[in-house]
Amino acid sequence: LSIASNKEDIVIKSPMQPLNYPKITIDQFIWDKYSKWMNKIAVIDGVTDRCLTYAKLRDQCRTLAVHLRTSLNLKSRDTIAICLPNSLEFPIITFAACEAQIVVTTINPIYTADEIARQLADSNATILFGLATMSAILKSAVDKTNKNIRIIYITENEAEAIPNDGIKFNDLMISKVDLSALKEIDRDCYETTLLPYSSGTTGLSKGVMLSHMNMVSNCMHLCSPEMAHTFDAIGDYQDIIPCVLPMFHLYGLSLMFSTLAQGCKLITLKSFNPNTFLNTLEKHKASVLYVVPPIIIFFNNYDKIGPQHTQSIKYVLSGAAPLGGSDIEKFLKIAPNAKFLQAYGLTETSPLTHACYKNTKSFAGVGSPVNDVESKIVKVDDPEFKGLGPNQSGEVLVRGPNIMIGYHNNEKATKETITPDGWLRTGDVGYYDENQEFFITDRLKELIKVKAYQVAPAELEEILRMHDEIVDAAVIGIPNAATGELPRAYIVPTSNSKINEKIVKDYVAQKVAEYKRLEGGVEIVDSIPKNATGKILRRQLKEKYLKENTSM
Ligand code: AMP
Repeated sequence: LSIASNKEDIVIKSPMQPLNYPKITIDQFIWDKYSKWMNKIAVIDGVTDRCLTYAKLRDQCRTLAVHLRTSLNLKSRDTIAICLPNSLEFPIITFAACEAQIVVTTINPIYTADEIARQLADSNATILFGLATMSAILKSAVDKTNKNIRIIYITENEAEAIPNDGIKFNDLMISKVDLSALKEIDRDCYETTLLPYSSGTTGLSKGVMLSHMNMVSNCMHLCSPEMAHTFDAIGDYQDIIPCVLPMFHLYGLSLMFSTLAQGCKLITLKSFNPNTFLNTLEKHKASVLYVVPPIIIFFNNYDKIGPQHTQSIKYVLSGAAPLGGSDIEKFLKIAPNAKFLQAYGLTETSPLTHACYKNTKSFAGVGSPVNDVESKIVKVDDPEFKGLGPNQSGEVLVRGPNIMIGYHNNEKATKETITPDGWLRTGDVGYYDENQEFFITDRLKELIKVKAYQVAPAELEEILRMHDEIVDAAVIGIPNAATGELPRAYIVPTSNSKINEKIVKDYVAQKVAEYKRLEGGVEIVDSIPKNATGKILRRQLKEKYLKENTSM
């Protein structure tokens, strides 16, 4: 039986087999088996059809790894930033940095210059990779940091010009390198390799330090034999995977790692466009889909979907935000050959912690802890974090080889998130049933998720308070059928202000990426509810909103 009970502290162990994790870096893990599929296509651009075989990808990664250490002069533990849509260059740059023992921070390419600048400064990145077509925003972001950050531009065609002080990615890649530079690097699989950003349970977004071993364990979990699909690039066969989830987010990035380690063919799509997405499914005969709930909702409601788009799909995994059981049932009628699994995780856990698998009974839940991961449910604010029994609701805690090292330069937030005995507090509310399968029901943390993207209320509140006519502000997420949630603001204006909803919305829209806009509305109030220590009582605002807006 998989309940390990020590009287009051009930811990649910993974029902899946323990795995033997090799102590290697994530690049060593990815290239371990590649000679088996080196002549197959690794990545193909879903719009232009430009592609790289595994052999070419391996070669390009090595070339760039050498440049990072030599012509670009980086040392172990330096940081580079990637601000790119999904593209062939994404795996080249990421894997090259991992191989050169250099940390990668990934930035949303639709960010404004202010948002990019904040992450560049906080992560201490010294090189920024971005699109030449975005040069004005990238340069402005670098200027705002007042730091010496070099920009390497990715061009979409040979003729495309780049700013004089920039470096062209393609020029770097065609110059000759001496591979011996890589032999001298000390490798350490317990060091940070990725630094994605997440707001965690509270405050502004923070760098999440993930080690090589964190990522190796995540890759092994995603492809473990007990998950309902195994990726065998044997003979002529290869799984075909459209990559529509953004690679800057750890969900998309970790899939890029794990599927390229298994010889799959990835089709990169820059953003979600219904026609391009459906054409890709049909043209490439996609076999595996990794999605977020808004994509399932799209499938369920878009009238141009036919069997030609879904008949090749064998396996679908949805994560990053909640999805209702009825949406899953509807989807399975549209994609009848598919096995559908839900999974759950966080950037802080590399990201997968729970997944449905072969023996799962209720596919409406998020399944069981993955191999070697333990999970428990604790009473909210129980200082001892004692695990509760089945069907009792509380905060979900997880522990295992995939838990982050900690938050970058933020010991306080790290201590608040990871208990002394290694349990990570997810800030989510859930329970497990008598089969020890987990269900996520609510969020304690202030995080808002719009189309599965993170929106940190603290960031929008800070921007609102910077407005001359706003004294105080609070932001909450309100439910929305298409996007999951939408940000909604409550503001206290200065005494003689004539500020209105439109002015506030437009002001915020100029400063943040589109999905963070205040599409949930703006309400003018006399005061913001706070507790005795000044903490905003966002939950109170949310409950009031739901009460006033839920039809009986
Ligand atoms: P991120 O770090 O952006 O991946 O966000 C992690 C958060 O997304 C979790 O703490 C949950 O609040 C939410 N989340 C992820 N997967 C699920 C899921 N399957 N069901 C409900 N919420 C989820």
